[in-house]
Amino acid sequence: MAGRNFLFVPGPSNVPDRVLRAMHVAMEDHRSPSFPELTRACLDGLKGVFKTASGTPLLFPSSGTGCWEAALTNCLSPGDKVLIARFGQFSHLWTDMCQRLGFDLEILETPWGEGAPVARYLASLRADERHAIRAVLVCQNETATGVTSDVAAVRRAMDSVNHPALLFVDSVSALGSIDFRMDDWAVDVCISGSQKGLMLPAGLGVTCVSPKALEAARSATSRRCYFDYRDMVQANASGYFPYTPPLPLLYGLRESLQMIAEEGLDNILRRHSYLAGGVRAAVLEGWKLKLCAVAPNWYSDTVSAVMVPEGKDAAAVIERAFTRYNLSLGAGLSKVAGKLFRIGHLGDLNELMLLGAICGAEMAMLDCGLKIEAGSGAAAAQSYWRNHSSAVETRAA
Ligand code: PLP
Repeated sequence: MAGRNFLFVPGPSNVPDRVLRAMHVAMEDHRSPSFPELTRACLDGLKGVFKTASGTPLLFPSSGTGCWEAALTNCLSPGDKVLIARFGQFSHLWTDMCQRLGFDLEILETPWGEGAPVARYLASLRADERHAIRAVLVCQNETATGVTSDVAAVRRAMDSVNHPALLFVDSVSALGSIDFRMDDWAVDVCISGSQKGLMLPAGLGVTCVSPKALEAARSATSRRCYFDYRDMVQANASGYFPYTPPLPLLYGLRESLQMIAEEGLDNILRRHSYLAGGVRAAVLEGWKLKLCAVAPNWYSDTVSAVMVPEGKDAAAVIERAFTRYNLSLGAGLSKVAGKLFRIGHLGDLNELMLLGAICGAEMAMLDCGLKIEAGSGAAAAQSYWRNHSSAVETRAA
């Protein structure tokens, strides 16, 4: 099909040409005397993205899922109690992993479309007088439903009852796009991946661990080997890895961190919020459809999950968008399959790129018989952006 594919799934996100070029390198000796320069640029640069001075960023040749497993197996022992809320496919998969690894789960079942139920986390922590709960798990941005949770509030809940559990946060589809604060929120392990806000291909598990998490890893008895934090920390200390690292991804990461530094992380967060506002205007005011996120406090600035009207098939819209317009939209996963499509709006992105996605989604919906008005989403998004452009223009001035 002529023209570029419009990639609007919520990860992998578009890789900037600059990053693609930076990854186009000959292989080299990862034990050479000059190699530590690259390692240090990546690990030091990540500290700013995690907003941490005390945490230790780590890179595993994996995806985000590997970092979930690393957090659990490094810091916990078999049978340890874990508190987690499940409100979408990714929090479900993390829950499932905890079960398969043999932990004792307290699951806060929460309707899909809502986020982390802070009051229920608090009630469980308060009831846990003997501090059996060893880790509190939160998915900051549930990519399946387009829902962002308030991690700071979960930390406040833990502190309010002086609960000593570790706090693990899945920030796979938030880091670098939605505010995340390792130190301010006293997060013990942040889990992320390369293929979303960091604008890289998939293949790097990007994680950050607190001193408390590293301390827990000294006595935790879950079996681990490839994902052992201590092997990684020890090798990284001299600028190397315990095994062959994915070299092109490290070069790409160094470049994407440079891009993040040039734009400024807080400017990037503002841009995401501004772009997301336009997409939501398209959905709610233009097309007059609903989002899966049931209230504005849950709206995600990196992904919007658009509900199609009863009797219509979102999978047909996604297929039409791809086969006819070369536009990739995100599918509805498990419980919401066929009920919604997702527009990813994260990473290296601007208004005009998003207008392509909005217009493509509009055309695909019209082709599939949805009763929306042609151009209504694009008009609503434009109007939103024109009214809110000061949010992003002041930084350029
Ligand atoms: N957590 C969230 C919130 C995600 O969106 C994803 C993937 O999209 C994952 C975890 C799993 O990450 P990965 O696919 O990188 O293993």
